[in-house]
Amino acid sequence: MLKLINIKKTYLVADQKVEALKGINLAFRKNEFVSILGPSGCGKTTTLNIIGGLDKYTSGDLVINGKSTKQFCDRDWDVYRNHRIGFIFQSYNLIPHQNVLSNVELSLTIAGLPKEERIKKAKKALDRVGLSDQYYKKPNQLSGGQCQRVAIARALVNEPEILLADEPTGALDTVTSVQIMDLIKDISKEKLVIMVTHNPELAEKYSSRIINLLDGEVINDSNPYSFEEENNEYLNDKKQTKAEIKKVEKAKMSWWTSFKLSAKNLLSKKRRTILTCFAGSIGIIGISMVLAVSSGIKGYIADMQDDMLSGNPITITEETIDMNAMLGQMSSIEQLEILENQVNVDSILSYMADKIVGDNSFIVKNTISQEYINYLNDMPSEYVHAISYNYGINLNHNIYTEYKYNSTSEGEMVSLTALLQMYSSTLNDTDFAKYTSFLQMLATTMSQSIPNEEYIKTQYDLVAGSKIATKKNEIMLVLNDSQSAVDITLAQLGFFTQEEFVDLAINFNNEDVNLKQRFTYDEILNKKFMYYPNNTIYSTTTNPMLASMFPFTYSPYATNFDKSEGIELEIVGILKVKEAVSYGALTSGFYYTEDLAKYALETAKDSEIVKFANGNEDFVFGTTSTTTGMISNGIMYTYHYTDVSGNLHPETEINPSTFMPVNMTLLTQSMSSSSLLTMGMSSSSTDTTNIGPTLRDLGGLALPNLVKIYPLSFEEKFLVTDYLDAWNDTSVDITLSDGTQYLKDNPCRLKVTYNDTMEIIIALINTMINIVTYALIAFTCLALLVSCVMIAIITYVSVIERIKEIGVIRSLGGRKKDVSHLFNAETFMIGAFSGFFGIGVTYLISFIANQIIGSLTGVYTICSLPLDEAATMILLSIFLTVISGLIPSRSAAKKDPVTALRTE
Ligand code: ADP
Ligand code: MG
Repeated sequence: MLKLINIKKTYLVADQKVEALKGINLAFRKNEFVSILGPSGCGKTTTLNIIGGLDKYTSGDLVINGKSTKQFCDRDWDVYRNHRIGFIFQSYNLIPHQNVLSNVELSLTIAGLPKEERIKKAKKALDRVGLSDQYYKKPNQLSGGQCQRVAIARALVNEPEILLADEPTGALDTVTSVQIMDLIKDISKEKLVIMVTHNPELAEKYSSRIINLLDGEVINDSNPYSFEEENNEYLNDKKQTKAEIKKVEKAKMSWWTSFKLSAKNLLSKKRRTILTCFAGSIGIIGISMVLAVSSGIKGYIADMQDDMLSGNPITITEETIDMNAMLGQMSSIEQLEILENQVNVDSILSYMADKIVGDNSFIVKNTISQEYINYLNDMPSEYVHAISYNYGINLNHNIYTEYKYNSTSEGEMVSLTALLQMYSSTLNDTDFAKYTSFLQMLATTMSQSIPNEEYIKTQYDLVAGSKIATKKNEIMLVLNDSQSAVDITLAQLGFFTQEEFVDLAINFNNEDVNLKQRFTYDEILNKKFMYYPNNTIYSTTTNPMLASMFPFTYSPYATNFDKSEGIELEIVGILKVKEAVSYGALTSGFYYTEDLAKYALETAKDSEIVKFANGNEDFVFGTTSTTTGMISNGIMYTYHYTDVSGNLHPETEINPSTFMPVNMTLLTQSMSSSSLLTMGMSSSSTDTTNIGPTLRDLGGLALPNLVKIYPLSFEEKFLVTDYLDAWNDTSVDITLSDGTQYLKDNPCRLKVTYNDTMEIIIALINTMINIVTYALIAFTCLALLVSCVMIAIITYVSVIERIKEIGVIRSLGGRKKDVSHLFNAETFMIGAFSGFFGIGVTYLISFIANQIIGSLTGVYTICSLPLDEAATMILLSIFLTVISGLIPSRSAAKKDPVTALRTE
């Protein structure tokens, strides 16, 4: 059944050919006990290994059941070893980390048999060699004889036809040797046993045939197998063999098995596995921490970006500072200086604004034309939350509220403009000087809201079942955290009596005074406001002596005019900025709707005062005289005023030249020019300056002077700016969706410089982030490299350690693939474990770091590794480990099984 024909084996040692076998011709019977005898180094093991398909012959042929093996591929040899050959070695070659049963199972495992069948067969084999009570012991708990029995059981478990034994008793004492030999002798009754030994007595006693080798040649054969005998046996067996061939399946070890074997190996070296994974995870922890910090910062900035965006819309004003141009003039050092010294958006901007004082080259004048507005209105609605058009109407003249001068006086309706003068009427000069900063804050009263209810709702909570103002007769109050800001707002709207106001002004910024809860929400919601159109509040001056200089008389309180045109404004909403929002689109204060602004604009257009102003362009309302500092022409006021003795004179018609109470003059002198302009006053009484209402104040100009664009998010902001840039790009034509065209040479295509505050801030921040990012990237790469090298070394060490096991697996018919799978499975598990461990540690460190950073800065998300990145890191860990282990594992698979087994 087995025939060696002129088998030669040459080894190459240091470029020299060593002939280990010099032409062996042998044939074996189906059942016999052959002993190969010979001195050490004569080629016994080599012969055995060639028969077992473990080593390849250099020339000649090995014929198995009449079939030449010249054309055998690796796979055929694997199957041959797994199904036909059982090996027994002198040094047992058991796998130390597996128990006896698993060791015996191994060959079946490699063949891919199901578990129950494997256990059944392995137990049967162990019973046969007399180890029925040692299934679950580890090899190192057994004696040498018992180990060899396990090895025999392992060789028999697959029911091979040939049992090859290489000095099976070489390492055993005489008594045990005899037991083992008896066992082998017993086996040889049904199998072909070829045993290598250098003990002639044993050979003599047990075997049926002795072959003597010397220097790679057969020198004697005690019972040669004749050709006729061979032929007969061959013919007898022919039918049977055919059936048998069918039975032989290809040896195939599943991935799952590889994992289980590797897991067992890793578990057997628990402490080392843990250390390995810990070491491997250090790289992962490093990278993950970098990612956590970078994504934490990115997230923080992204949050800030979208959050800040609502408070910093893109604005278009008639006069603006070209921030971009200014930034372009700054070196990055100067830019960093800004960030270094400034902590919030407002201070950055004012810092920059301070830099340009006296430098007019950055000041830009814009023309906001109707064409431009058409163009803005044609902007795709999905880019923005809202576009808010502000017309600069000073509704403070038109809005009246119920006011009580003191706790005993009757409430009366006075205009918002008049309030300030009433409040400050009794402050003496010293107090006045003291509280000017406070008084300045009262300048701005009601502002125009944003025409998008939903957008406002995303940033503000509504108090006490109130709602967002949407109609023209609805107004709302926006509160912020600062009680003083709320107090100022309420003061602006006449919520305080004169006494209370003085109290507030004096105690302002004094933290000891508890000003909170001055008003209930109900009180605020119930306060009465009226809007009166220009024709109601500005009447033609009746006194003919004054009429030419003061053609109109303004009534700051609503007692003596026709109230039929008034609209009652209802406070429908009290809004509080949501906790998560740090920059709301609306600052604290009162807001009216765009509808009211449009209505005011519409009614103002045909009002007498606007018509007069349009018809008398030289006439300026409220001009102070250069020499006397008195108002020389303008609007006549009827007014409450307090005289020197402190008596209140209601409804007195005053000559405007004496109208300003003394305190008011003081106020105007100490206030900044911008606040004065908002109040409609001039800062210096010696300049001839317009201090009365302008045409824009009166609602006489139909085009807005301020446009605020609220982009949907930070990404859409770029679409918006692209859209705005397109208008300025006069090399292309513009066609609106309704077909209107603004060709490139259209004179209306005047350049409009918009102000994108966010862009400026981001540009500044980016300069900083870039520097940080480069450092992080360098760190990441280093950590990555360390991790890879570490894993490669670990796998390599593991391969070295398991070389014996590789040999055993190969000798049992395991494929090269099986071996590499085994190591890949191991590196996979190490990688996965390292990855999970590393991510776990990262989250732990992140949590602790966040607590510490958070307690210092209030930002608790600076380290936040996103889940998808965590998953990627685990995958990366596995990938890198497997890749790093690939070379060692391939080298393991390529290991010559003979060499592997010879390794001690
Ligand atoms: P035995 O088992 O009879 O002691 P071996 O079959 O192990 O002898 O070795 C036969 C000869 O082949 C020896 O001279 C040995 O040095 C040589 N040999 C065996 N394996 C190798 C090898 N891998 N490389 C080089 N020479 C080898
Ligand atoms: Mg040998």
